[in-house]
Amino acid sequence: MSASDTPGLAASLNRLGTETAFSVLARAKELERQGRHIIHLELGEPDFDTPRHIGDAAAAAIRAGHTHYGPTAGLPEFRQVAAQHLATTRGIDVSPDQVLVGTGAKPFLFFTILAVCDPGDEVIYPDPGFPIYESAIRWSGATPVALPLREEHDFAFDLADLEARLSPRTKLVILNSPHNPTGGALTPQETADAAALLAESEAWVLSDEVYSRLLYEGEFASVASHPGMEERTVVLDGLSKTYAMTGWRCGYAAVPEPLVDPLVRFFVNSTSCVPAFIQLAGVAALTGPQDEPAAMSKEFRRRRDLVVAGLNELPGVSCVMPRGAFYAFPNVSAVPIAADELARRLLEEAGVALLAGSAFGKVGADNLRISYANSEENLNTALERMADFLEAL
Ligand code: PLP
Repeated sequence: MSASDTPGLAASLNRLGTETAFSVLARAKELERQGRHIIHLELGEPDFDTPRHIGDAAAAAIRAGHTHYGPTAGLPEFRQVAAQHLATTRGIDVSPDQVLVGTGAKPFLFFTILAVCDPGDEVIYPDPGFPIYESAIRWSGATPVALPLREEHDFAFDLADLEARLSPRTKLVILNSPHNPTGGALTPQETADAAALLAESEAWVLSDEVYSRLLYEGEFASVASHPGMEERTVVLDGLSKTYAMTGWRCGYAAVPEPLVDPLVRFFVNSTSCVPAFIQLAGVAALTGPQDEPAAMSKEFRRRRDLVVAGLNELPGVSCVMPRGAFYAFPNVSAVPIAADELARRLLEEAGVALLAGSAFGKVGADNLRISYANSEENLNTALERMADFLEAL
């Protein structure tokens, strides 16, 4: 039954999508309660603990009484530090007034789309892509325009595809590099070429850069660093992925001046503020020692090599080398069952929880998404279980 058929529910709920990772997690937990052993490769979160000094800073802030409502835009201390961080890592001019803080990077996706889109507007977004993009676009009443990221192009988009999709109705273009779910990343040249094209358009740009510190090949470059782009680009980052702080819920963005007040209004209407003690922990994260995030990134790179080599040995499976984030996106079109069915059966029969590529859009329908943010031992067990399952098909 769809939401519109359920008495008492809004018809508009039918336009709201979801993130399959959380439903697969729920099913995996149910199987665990039945006594099954499951390897979790479904959720995109570092398996490391938050660095100790960050937790200590939060605990000290709570003890010091930073437990009240704070300014909706964010604590001045955190906005200052985040502005500096975004300016130096992206090579852009960011004033603290332009930095907003949210309960994770996620609300920025929803609220930026709601702040700029009317029904009839078009939003270009990556396919495959983080499912919240399409969900929020549909919710706003705007038209989602999928920009294909193809495997033969190492999951970068083709500039001609972007150009063909830009129209006078394009209100927003969403970019994400390094990329969920493929692990692909734009090269600095590809970023520069996209920027040159976008600077000619009237569109806002939302550059989702939450994986910028998890790039294993080449240099990270933000689209905002190119001429004419800073004024139109929301540069989005967060603490979740870089500092293993997914559960803390803290994201931040450099926001073009005309979007600052509208976004603050969405935050006033929803969350009011990010807890002050979390933002003070964020200050410790961004200004403290960076050896743990660096070690984490190095470890992910090692696991990436291990997982991709293992996947490429499996019958019917081929996997391009991801360049960033902690995802592999193997193609399973040569396996005798469809990717959706394969993902379901790997969980139910082999105890490996992962996601079907179709959870991220049409273009990834022949793929699986594997989060390799898990121990080497678990990754090896998952690969063995997958090998046994596939060989028995
Ligand atoms: N953007 C992308 C591409 C993601 O993969 C995620 C989380 O998986 C987010 C944004 C949201 O991150 P946060 O935990 O900061 O809300």
